[in-house]
Amino acid sequence: MAKFIAGCIFCKILQGNAPAETIYEDDDLMCIKDIHPASDHHYLIIPKNHISNAKELKPDDEPLFDKIVDTVEVVTAQQGLNLSSVRTGFHWPPFNTINHLHLHVIGPIENMDFIKRQIFRENSFWFVSTDYVKERLKTLSR
Ligand SMILES: [Zn+2]
Ligand SMILES: [Zn+2]
Repeated sequence: MAKFIAGCIFCKILQGNAPAETIYEDDDLMCIKDIHPASDHHYLIIPKNHISNAKELKPDDEPLFDKIVDTVEVVTAQQGLNLSSVRTGFHWPPFNTINHLHLHVIGPIENMDFIKRQIFRENSFWFVSTDYVKERLKTLSR
């Protein structure tokens, strides 16, 4: 059973109690359209269990994390996006606006305006890559 938190918008969406446009779903996660797209395509891959943010991920969560990352390829292929022009990443606390882990998938990068490029700037203090989080998980498990 998925673990939901009261008052969390993504938990509401996952329970069908708030609207969202779902483009992909399996037992562990869901992929929805971002309501404020930063380019032509902007999706959020959300685990069904409530995890606050990427910093809260524990070594035990690594299989789930890997699945989230693998799903990027699934949704980009489904949407006809070229992986090489797709920006992915996580907001890093305290710069996360929604307290439920979600991976941003944005493309094409060329169609992001200046402001969006700053907001979703790879490996800034506020937005980190999947590789960064993976490395951190490995360090934590040592
Ligand atoms: Zn939640
Ligand atoms: Zn976000």
